[in-house]
Order: sequence, then structure tokens, then C-alpha cells
Amino acid sequence: MTPLDRLVRQLIARDGPLPVSRFMALALNHPEHGYYRQAAAIGRHGDFVTAPEISQVFGELAGLWLAEAWDRAGRPDPCILCEAGPGRGALMADALRAVRQVVPGFAAARLHLIESSERLRAAQAEALAGAAPVWIEGLDALPDGPLFLIANEFLDALPVRQFVMTPGGWRERAVALGDGGRLVFAAGADPAGALAAAGMSLPAQAEPGEIREIQPDALAFVRGLAHRLVATGGAALLIDYGGNLPAGRSTLRGIRGHALADPLGEIGETDLSVDVDFTRLREAAVSAGAVVLGPVRQAVFLDSLGIEARRAALKASASADDAAIIDTAVDRLIDPAAMGSAFKAMAVAAPSCASLPGFAA
Ligand code: SAH
Repeated sequence: MTPLDRLVRQLIARDGPLPVSRFMALALNHPEHGYYRQAAAIGRHGDFVTAPEISQVFGELAGLWLAEAWDRAGRPDPCILCEAGPGRGALMADALRAVRQVVPGFAAARLHLIESSERLRAAQAEALAGAAPVWIEGLDALPDGPLFLIANEFLDALPVRQFVMTPGGWRERAVALGDGGRLVFAAGADPAGALAAAGMSLPAQAEPGEIREIQPDALAFVRGLAHRLVATGGAALLIDYGGNLPAGRSTLRGIRGHALADPLGEIGETDLSVDVDFTRLREAAVSAGAVVLGPVRQAVFLDSLGIEARRAALKASASADDAAIIDTAVDRLIDPAAMGSAFKAMAVAAPSCASLPGFAA
């Protein structure tokens, strides 16, 4: 039993079933035992490997995307560079290295990192020592000025609220105690009041057992981002899991030791993530006045940014063994059976910055 396995059982015994969103927030962000607060989770030796950890090409292309967006926006100076959820800092380190060579003016932008984990802030400080980053809690703490932001696998880690259809109507999906102290999913409170207060609704007709999800924090993040971009100019690139399961099912998954795992097991030592609802995020950004491009599949996006040319350039100066490693890594990013189609890229931009690379007209 992990410390959070015990804590979750105590909370349920005291207060009743724990809504999935509270469970997820606790599992990932508990100040002492949350997954991102303690595990050296990301990377080859951790539980999951993200795109920037697979190949330097991912961060390089992301950096060039940001620099190109800045260039097309008229090279505003000063401007703000920001990453949300930078993990171990690999993406931004690769991005800055690539950008410094071709667009030094942009590489001088002040770097801000939105990161809640002290542990990961320390890893980022090491990876990005030359860039003197400033850590902040959220978008509100960014200084004024045109903003160029990237977030990879950030939104999928924000808590999800789930609703399940029962014979008595929609109920908030919750985590409860089952036989023998096992944790199980269960139908919790009637969500009607809370949904009405949040201005949200669920379809009146649904099959029993059908599940719907919303990510209030992800919606608030994208809405806030869109307002900010409209006010100050700039553009953002959001890359995440999304659109992979038919509606009506839970997308909450646990990941442990590079494999899918029970999301209710080994709490605090299992990573949790969900499919991001790009349709809702798009609507939120558009209604804030921003321009949205995509989502497009990661493979399509990276291809149009020139991943094959970058692959060839890297291989040209590599040994045969290293060339094979480069091939395997790049293939993993674009292979539809790996990350190429499970991940999607979407851009949010100020109307003045809406000409962006990577998204075919
Ligand atoms: N982008 C990185 C890491 C993805 S993991 C990569 O691609 O490798 C998710 C990241 O988001 C971690 O850095 C985690 O600590 C951070 N994170 C999760 N929830 C957060 C929150 N509510 N506020 C700030 N950062 C958060």
C-alpha cells in the first residue's frame, strides 16, 4: 500500500465516494505523495516516455515552430516564451538549442515555466540552466507582452470530471470502497446542480453505463490562454492525446513502468492521463476571440514541419548504429500505431498572429 492508497481509503470512509476529479488531482498533485511530486516519473527509466524524451527532433521542431510564429508576428521585442508542464525540461532545452542557431533574437525571449512540482522544477533548472527560467503557477502570473507558449502532454494530466448514466439519470462518477477494501468506480452524487452552476449540460438520452467527461481546468486554461493571446498577441501550440476513443467511455488510464495499469492501483506511483477533448477546447478558444488551427495528427504536423529533412540531417553525421537509433525514435513519433495519430496538435493564436506553420490551409 502506498501512502495515498491509505489516504484515499480514509477519505472515502470518512466522506463517502471520492469524485474522479478529486481522486485524479490527489493522485497526481498531493503535496507530498502525488505522482508528479515524488517520482522521477518521466524518461527512459521512469513510467512513461514523452515525445521530447524519445527524440531531440521533437523539441527542435517545436522550437522552430515557436520562432517561426514569432517571425510571422513581426518579431515583437520584448516577447514572452512559456512552456506549461515542462517535465524534465527536455523539450525546451532542445527547442532553445535549435532556435539559437537560426533565430537568435527569439532565443533571447524571457522564459517562463508553468510547473507545480518542486521536484520537476529542480530537474528543469538543471536542464535549462543557461536560459534563466522564471517559474510561475499559472498564466495569470505571466508578464505583459506578446506570448509564445507550448504545452506537450500538459492538458491530459489535469483532473477530469466523469459522469455516468444510471437508471436514475446522470451521476458523478466516483471512487468508492468495494469488497475487501478494494477501490472501485461507482455512481456518486447527482451532478445536476453543479453542472447548471458551471453552465454545462449532459445529453438527456444516453445508455446506462455511458460515461461523459469534462476537464474544467483544461477548459479554463485554454480559455485564459485565448483571452491572453487576443489581448497581447502571440500564439500557442498544444500537443496531447485526444480523440482516440468513441464517446461514451472512460478515457482515464493508468501508466506504470511503460505499460497500461489500473488507474486505481498504487496511487501516487501510477501516472494518470485522459484523452483531451479538442472539440470543447477549440470552442472555448474561439468564443474568447482567438483563431484555432487544427487539431491535426502529430504525424501530419511533424511531417509538415520537416521532420524527414531533420532526420536525414541527423543521420548524415551519425554512425550506422546511431542512425538506426535515430530512425527508431523518429518512427515512433510519427508511426500511426505509436504516437503519430494518438497525439494531436492544435494552435491557438491572436487573430493578428494567425498565419502559422504546420497546419495545412
Ligand atoms: N511536457 C513534458 C511533461 C509532461 S508530464 C514532456 O512532454 O515530457 C506533465 C507535466 O505537467 C509535469 O511537468 C507536471 O508536473 C506538470 N503539471 C501537471 N499538473 C500541473 C498543474 N496543475 N500545474 C502546473 N503543472 C502541472
